[in-house]
Amino acid sequence: MKKTYNINKKGYYGEFGGAYIPEMLYPNVEELRQNYLKIMAEPSFKEEFDHLLKDYVGRPSPLYFAKRLSEKYNTKIYLKREDLNHTGAHKVNNTIGQILMAQRLGKTRIIAETGAGQHGVATATVCALMGLKCIVYMGEIDIARQAPNVARMKMLGAEVRPALSGSRTLKDATNEAIRDWINNPVDTHYIIGSVVGPHPYPDMVARFQAIVSEEIQWQLKDKEGTTKPDYVIACVGGGSNAAGAFYHYLDDTDVKLIAVEAAGKGIHSGESAATSVLGKEGIIHGSKTLLMQTNDGQITEPYSISAGLDYPGVGPMHAHLYTSGRAEFISITDDEAMTAGLELSQLEGIIPAIETSHSLAIFNQKKFKENDIVVINLSGRGDKDLQNYIDYFKL
Ligand SMILES: *Cc1c(COP(=O)(O)O)cnc(C)c1O
Repeated sequence: MKKTYNINKKGYYGEFGGAYIPEMLYPNVEELRQNYLKIMAEPSFKEEFDHLLKDYVGRPSPLYFAKRLSEKYNTKIYLKREDLNHTGAHKVNNTIGQILMAQRLGKTRIIAETGAGQHGVATATVCALMGLKCIVYMGEIDIARQAPNVARMKMLGAEVRPALSGSRTLKDATNEAIRDWINNPVDTHYIIGSVVGPHPYPDMVARFQAIVSEEIQWQLKDKEGTTKPDYVIACVGGGSNAAGAFYHYLDDTDVKLIAVEAAGKGIHSGESAATSVLGKEGIIHGSKTLLMQTNDGQITEPYSISAGLDYPGVGPMHAHLYTSGRAEFISITDDEAMTAGLELSQLEGIIPAIETSHSLAIFNQKKFKENDIVVINLSGRGDKDLQNYIDYFKL
C-alpha cells in the first residue's frame, strides 16, 4: 500500500489521533463519526458549501506574487490571501463547513469554546448566517483580555459564557463546552476551531480547510505552469491553516512542508508555545498528540505574543508530520515575528495577523534558491492586532 501522511481508517495519523473521550460523550462523537464523510459527499452539501465560500466568504482567495518581498529574499514568494476572507482569516472556512454539517444532523444549538475570541467570532458569524442559537464558552481572564472580540460575538447574537474554574483560560472553557455537550447530546453540535479534538474532528476540519491547497494548485498552474510549489509554509497553533495549505501536498514529497511554531521569548525560556520541540506524547482535548507538559503529565501554560498560537498542544496530523520528518518545524520568537510583520506591511502594503507574521519571519532563518517557488499561507489580517503592534513598536 502507498504510504500516506493522511489519516487512517481508525482515525490515526501514525500513532497520533484517536478519540480519548469520557464514556458520556461517546454517542455525540460517534454520531458525527458515522455521518461526516457521507454528508460531505452529498452533492447538495458540496453545492451549498461552495456557494457560501464563494459569495459569503469571498473565495477563491487570491494567490499573490509578492514582488518586493521576493526581490529582498531573492526567491519567488507567493502569498495565499486568507486574510481577505470575510472575518479576516481562514477560520471561517471551517465554521461554514461545520454549521452545514450541524444542520444536516438536525442540530439547532451550537456551542464552541474560544481563547483569543477569533474562533468564537467565526462561529457566532455562521450561527447568525443560519439563525442558530450560539453559546461560546470563554475563560473569564480571556473575556477581560479580548474585549473587542467579546463585543463582536455579542453583536452577532451569541451568548458568551465565562468559564470560572481553574486558570480561567482556554482549557477551562474547553471543559465547560464538553460538559455542555454531554448534557445536550440531541440538539447541540460542538464546533471545534482547529484540527484538534477527538476523531473525526481533526480530519473533518482538515477537509474543510483543504480548499486552501485545492485553490493553490490551480492558481499556481495558471501563474507558473505547475501545480506544485517547492515549499508550502504555514504557522501552527492547533494546525488548521497549515493542514489546509498542506492537504493536497501531504503525500507528494516533492513539495516540502514547513510548519512554523511560536517560540515566544525563546524555546527554552519557559515562555513559549513551541509544542513539537518541547512536547511529549499525551492526551489533550480528546486526542493523542504532542503537548507541553510537566514530568508528571500536567499541561504547561503556553506563551506567545500571538493569541492564536498560544496553545499547549498541536493537532495529531502535525504531531505525525513532525515525528515522521515529513514537515520541517521551525520556531520563531515574538521579536522575530513582530519585525517580519512590520516588514510585510512596508514592503507589500499588507498588515498580517501576528500569527502569520511568524511564518513570514522564516526568511531570516532559512535561505531559499532563486528559482524556488515558496507559498506562504497568509492566515489572517492584522487589524485585530493593531494595538499589539502599536505597543511593540511605539507607533
Ligand atoms: C487562529 C489562527 C491561527 C492558528 O490556528 P491554526 O488552527 O493553527 O490555523 C493562525 N493564524 C490566524 C490568523 C488565526 O486566527
